[in-house]
Amino acid sequence: KGTLYLVPTPIGNLEDMTFRAVNILNEVDLIASEDTRNTQKLLNHFEVETTQTSFHEHNSKERTPQLIEKLLDGQSIAQVSDAGMPSISDPGVDLVKAAVDAGISVVPLPGPNAALTALIASGLSPQPFYFLGFLPRKKKDLTAELEELNKRKETLVFYESPHRIKQVVDAMAGVFGVERKLVLAREVTKRFEEFIRGTMDEVYEWLSEENIRGEFVIIVEGNEHAETEEVKVWENWTLKEHVAFV
Ligand code: SAM
Repeated sequence: KGTLYLVPTPIGNLEDMTFRAVNILNEVDLIASEDTRNTQKLLNHFEVETTQTSFHEHNSKERTPQLIEKLLDGQSIAQVSDAGMPSISDPGVDLVKAAVDAGISVVPLPGPNAALTALIASGLSPQPFYFLGFLPRKKKDLTAELEELNKRKETLVFYESPHRIKQVVDAMAGVFGVERKLVLAREVTKRFEEFIRGTMDEVYEWLSEENIRGEFVIIVEGNEHAETEEVKVWENWTLKEHVAFV
């Protein structure tokens, strides 16, 4: 059987490509890319000549069994997304699940990822943290999701597009309160990398004055008053044990 390699690619700075990532892309029989044209630029830069095949959210259902067949046949495949880690708010997970089910070895490479890179520089507590990725698009679902998240004490990590970020911060201020701290990590690893730190209302004000461009990770302080399920269960348990003991 072949091996499925999960290969992270830079999120904006080509120097973040690892030596091992380049070696694996050179050695495999096939590269399964989210966008072959986009990845071709990366391959050209690092002089990788391996053939690509496309694997994205719209063809993953039919592509997965085809790629599994190749892997079972002894071919090795590297999976890449447009940027960062495959499977993290990107296509990939279907292939990984199918490979695991087929007993194929899955080898992940460490490398660039927007969420973790932003989190460690945020100045907010990096652990525990809760990664959601993209929030729901519809206003009603967005509010419902934020209300659920307001029960969490972990630091919250989101991906968001520049044209929706102001609306999302506004919705967060409505549910989490204007005093909650957050950080916008913009254009991480790129030339115009910037961290905007403040309370909900301060960051909203910044967004109102800016011509909002670039890629963003949103990091929000957890709700320090939230009671986790675990705490509740533990309290019930002690209460019952206590009664039994008495
Ligand atoms: N797989 C990627 C990873 O491991 O980070 C994430 C892919 S997701 C489709 C793209 C989102 O990641 C963007 O909308 C943005 O929220 C975030 N992102 C990607 N690159 C970024 C960067 N350089 N700076 C800030 N956010 C970034």
